[in-house]
Amino acid sequence: MTTRKILVTSALPYANGSIHLGHLVEYIQTDIWVRFQKMQGHEVHYVCADDTHGTPIMLRAETEGITPEQLIARVWQEHYDDFAAFHVQFDHYGSTNSNETKEFAQGIYRELKAANLIEVRSIEQFYDPVKNMFLPDRFIKGECPKCHAKDQYGDNCEVCGAAYAPIELIAPYSAVSGAKPEMRNSDHYFFKLSAEPCQQFLREWTKSGSLQPEAANKMQEWLGAEGESKLSDWDISRDAPYFGFEIPDAPGKYFYVWLDAPVGYMGSFKKLCEIKGLDFNEYWKPDSTAEMYHFIGKDILYFHALFWPAMLKNAGYRTPNKLFAHGFLTVNGEKMSKSRGTFITAKSYVDNIKNTEYLRYYYAAKINGTMEDLDLNLDDFVAKVNSDLIGKYINIASRCAGFIAKRFDGKLGETDLTAVSEFKAAFDGGEIARCFEEREFSRALREIMRLADVANQYIAEQKPWALAKEEGRDAELHIACSTAMTLFRDLTLYLKPVLPVLAEQVEAFLNIPPLAWNASWQPLAAGHPINSYQHLATRLDPKLIAALTAANQASLSPTPAVVPHSEQRHAEAQQHATEVTEEKNFEPFISIEDFAKIDLRVARIVNAEHVEGAAKLLKLTLDIGEANPRTVFAGIKSAYDPETLKGRMTVMVANLAPRKMKFGMSEGMVLAASGDTPGLFILSPDDGAQPGMRIK
Ligand SMILES: [Zn+2]
Repeated sequence: MTTRKILVTSALPYANGSIHLGHLVEYIQTDIWVRFQKMQGHEVHYVCADDTHGTPIMLRAETEGITPEQLIARVWQEHYDDFAAFHVQFDHYGSTNSNETKEFAQGIYRELKAANLIEVRSIEQFYDPVKNMFLPDRFIKGECPKCHAKDQYGDNCEVCGAAYAPIELIAPYSAVSGAKPEMRNSDHYFFKLSAEPCQQFLREWTKSGSLQPEAANKMQEWLGAEGESKLSDWDISRDAPYFGFEIPDAPGKYFYVWLDAPVGYMGSFKKLCEIKGLDFNEYWKPDSTAEMYHFIGKDILYFHALFWPAMLKNAGYRTPNKLFAHGFLTVNGEKMSKSRGTFITAKSYVDNIKNTEYLRYYYAAKINGTMEDLDLNLDDFVAKVNSDLIGKYINIASRCAGFIAKRFDGKLGETDLTAVSEFKAAFDGGEIARCFEEREFSRALREIMRLADVANQYIAEQKPWALAKEEGRDAELHIACSTAMTLFRDLTLYLKPVLPVLAEQVEAFLNIPPLAWNASWQPLAAGHPINSYQHLATRLDPKLIAALTAANQASLSPTPAVVPHSEQRHAEAQQHATEVTEEKNFEPFISIEDFAKIDLRVARIVNAEHVEGAAKLLKLTLDIGEANPRTVFAGIKSAYDPETLKGRMTVMVANLAPRKMKFGMSEGMVLAASGDTPGLFILSPDDGAQPGMRIK
């Protein structure tokens, strides 16, 4: 077999937020693939880095009273620790804020300029006269021109969903300083993607097999038909102040963060070359025979399938062999949500569940190499870990290993070769390798679990626990348990890319060298000593899942809402998936004057009683400090025993027009909360509030 040279990357996480389970779909997936390739004996280099530049980083650092360098150093460490906890093993994890990345970014720019692909144009843009900076769309707010909702971003309205240009906003203001922005002109630098040679190249490249079919179709849409010029030039500059790299010979102009983000792959790899003594050019020059793959989320396809190859091609570098784009993560079939506790950070998973290989296993069981979204169903997660991983795989060892230690001095006996050959006949090892290679991990795991079934079938037939109780059947017991150990070893080999730490524990337990994919497949020898069995993994307790979602709900504390997360929607999208959306449909904004029309009062429930003939109503007598108490019929019978309400304080709408009901006049309304889950909850003021106090 020839040894392949492979460079692999995952997209760079933005240094403005924590790693969450949505991000991990990509990193776990890449790591499994890389580990599989390394087990094949190939020379594989897996690099990544934090993406550190841009306005959001600059402003966040300012808000925290630290330098951007301090901010990105702190976040780098957090990201690094999170990845390590999930056993994502980069060969180098760098930062785009490095000399290497700077040199490549500036070098690429110079090449593009020399090729006549850079053009300077004056554009008009909102400027914050207090902060002395140009404002990206997401940093301008104002009234929506369509529905007139206040405080909407410069590019779209979160209330009515309308998209528009910042200039259309009514009464715009800077989200940074609150100042009224002015329109000013500034020179911007454009990469001329619309130039014919660029378009021609991209048309060919996107059809060259480097993209999944669904991605290639998307690109054709963006490129338009032959002769049609749908691609616009790309604005690659931003004005000072900006945290990033200066554009050569253009004082006060910086590269837009998305220019240097993918260049970070080169910078990080260059650093690895220095550490390991590798030849950078062997991987990046046009005549390279090494393979290069980028794992990315489908949301950043545009950058990776158009801008990036066009930059590389025109700056004298090779282009990637393939982009492996994947879908987003949903949890329980819906977008990750903070209010449901399903916006789960990597750290909170580690704190609550601890075993990160459970998640690796579950993701692998779902990943199929397409751009479809992946659903983490939390009940299914528990079920799959417990039935497959523990029930089918770990149980082989836990049911048989004890007898080897107790009855046979920890030494294996002869192997049942018929059983082993039946096991081998049950599958095609080449098929499992093919599935890993094609990133059809779900299919690989189904095959492996089918093999586990064969192994369990053997154990069920041999019944070692029964043999152990019968006189004179030690030899059979020894063979059955020893054979089970060989089958367990072989299953471990195939699971190793997914469960690297567990596999190491098994290697230590079985007292064998690291499992290698193409080693000759001999049963463990008679007389081979194994170590005593320690618990390799335990069942996943559903209570831990409940604690996990509760912890993520509890951490709902507002993140500093000073600045929007990113400079524009694409940069935001780069954080992969799963913007948190409020699943409640809130009412349109009202003015304070509108609110003041509602007269809310603290009320004492003087009396509460059932209403004859009313299925849902209780009749409440409410004291709000008037001469005569009010009568209100409230639909809270299902939730409250009237006796428990007497004497309680609550909140009522005092100026709701009286309404004649079947059972009498209702002179107001009490307020109660309800949601998607069962239950109805009336409100209580804090201790000390008196009947009749106004709520405003
Ligand atoms: Zn609107």
